[in-house]
Amino acid sequence: MLIKAQMDEIQSFLADASNMQGGHAARVVFPESAQEVADVLGEATRERVPVTVAGAGTGIVGGRVPFGGVVLATSRLNQIKEIVREADGGWAIAGAGVVLADFQRAVNEKGLIYPPDPTEWSCYLGGTVATNASGARTFKYGPTRNFIRRLKVALATGDLVDLRRGSIKADENGLLRIPLPNGRSIETELPSYRMPKTRKHASGYYVARGMDAIDLFIGSEGTLGVIAEVEVKLLAKPEGVLSGVVFFSSEKDLLGFVREARASSLQTREDKKSVGLDARALEFFDAESLRFLRSHYAQVPMDAAGAIFFEQETTQITEESLQAAWLELLERNNALLDDSWFATNEHDRREMSEFRHRLPVLVNEWIARHNQRKVSTDMAVPDEEFAGMLKFYKETLRASQLKYVIFGHIGDNHVHVNIMPRTEEEAARAREIYTQFVKRAVSVGGTISAEHGIGKLKRDYLRVLYGENHLREMARLKRAFDPACILGRGNIFAEEYL
Ligand SMILES: Cc1cc2nc3c(=O)[nH]c(=O)nc-3n(C[C@H](O)[C@H](O)[C@H](O)COP(=O)(O)OP(=O)(O)OC[C@H]3O[C@@H](n4cnc5c(N)ncnc54)[C@H](O)[C@@H]3O)c2cc1C
Repeated sequence: MLIKAQMDEIQSFLADASNMQGGHAARVVFPESAQEVADVLGEATRERVPVTVAGAGTGIVGGRVPFGGVVLATSRLNQIKEIVREADGGWAIAGAGVVLADFQRAVNEKGLIYPPDPTEWSCYLGGTVATNASGARTFKYGPTRNFIRRLKVALATGDLVDLRRGSIKADENGLLRIPLPNGRSIETELPSYRMPKTRKHASGYYVARGMDAIDLFIGSEGTLGVIAEVEVKLLAKPEGVLSGVVFFSSEKDLLGFVREARASSLQTREDKKSVGLDARALEFFDAESLRFLRSHYAQVPMDAAGAIFFEQETTQITEESLQAAWLELLERNNALLDDSWFATNEHDRREMSEFRHRLPVLVNEWIARHNQRKVSTDMAVPDEEFAGMLKFYKETLRASQLKYVIFGHIGDNHVHVNIMPRTEEEAARAREIYTQFVKRAVSVGGTISAEHGIGKLKRDYLRVLYGENHLREMARLKRAFDPACILGRGNIFAEEYL
């Protein structure tokens, strides 16, 4: 097994996309099989050496930044083992270190899709499972969790478990028993909190009545075990996709459009109708975002108060009727139809995706020019609270006179507020405002992280969401799987809870 210890060789493993400083580790190990992962962990437990699991390092909450011990890199678990096409979809088995973009390409070549689509496709499959990643298409398909059929997980004790969805469930009293290959078993009590009733949630361990054991590991951010191999569900590639970037001169109309588009989509899915308005993505740009984008896209209308990017899957038979249904909905909500853009072919669709992805890039460039770090939220709230939350964001930010843009997954009531400080003083004010947003989101039943996870950077906010006792329950759960507390130390909750 490859082991690297020279500083210049391991430097890139001491950080991730969060820019968190101060990471350090003695060495990085590169296991090439699930058994080697288990062996590394068993030894680390015996010697009480902390282990931080590294995927591709695109995480933005400091989850893979090590503070001591060793880094276990998953990059050599990079084999796509099987992609199987069935009558209506398919499945695949791949190592945790397969790059998501490579996996998506391989699956596409077989006429299939893997819906989870975080914006940054250089992440690894295992990283997306460990963070329960999601993206624009999550509005229709849900997060990574919904596509996981089986996980091979190496536990800190050196045991290797194969968890198939449906095979192990918690009982009605919240007790979970996972048999191990050596005849022993892990028995633990689930934490007693209830997760927020938001459409997306990536804050702390997944806990639900009668839950499947596999769900505990999805989103556990490298604290309960190392995901070595993943089996996922795949879907048949849609025949066509209709997309649009539609502008509104009034935010009230825009929100009305989103409400109707969401309600129709949910209705179509509930009725299991094959034809009907059913958005795959509903993404928001506020007026400030459009102002920013206008410097590159002169065709963004001057009187636009906001825009929505939407996608709908179609077939040759349904394309026309669905186009008509979307136009009717847009007209009813006073969209600026003459100024809006629509695409049914791959080339135009790519241009629209490019428009959507350009915004965070422009924001990052602006921030770099000002030598600051952006302060970016990841909260989601229940449907009925979204309009109030958006108003609160805007009123607070306008009063502060800080520069900001708001964009993101409005279909799931999950937008990212990006505050862009120009000076240290503004950065401090931005962080204070972030805390106000957290408190407000929690007070209306929201979650503090809908997709990026907690890592090391958002632990204090998790305490606001769940409180001390529930953090202790999470730590107790962790100890059942990781008695020497070697794995992912400092992720989700501070080490003092262990
Ligand atoms: C520009 C940009 C855009 C992004 N957009 C999105 C988005 O739209 N949606 C979204 O959800 N996220 C997004 N992210 C965040 C990030 O891409 C995801 O969280 C991704 O899933 C992380 O994968 P990774 O392989 O890079 O993991 P890493 O960053 O290496 O690790 C993330 C966490 O998972 C743990 N981990 C990694 N692999 C394993 C494993 N095999 N077993 C156990 N634990 C493991 C690590 O210890 C760490 O705690 C974005 C990030 C960037 C930089």
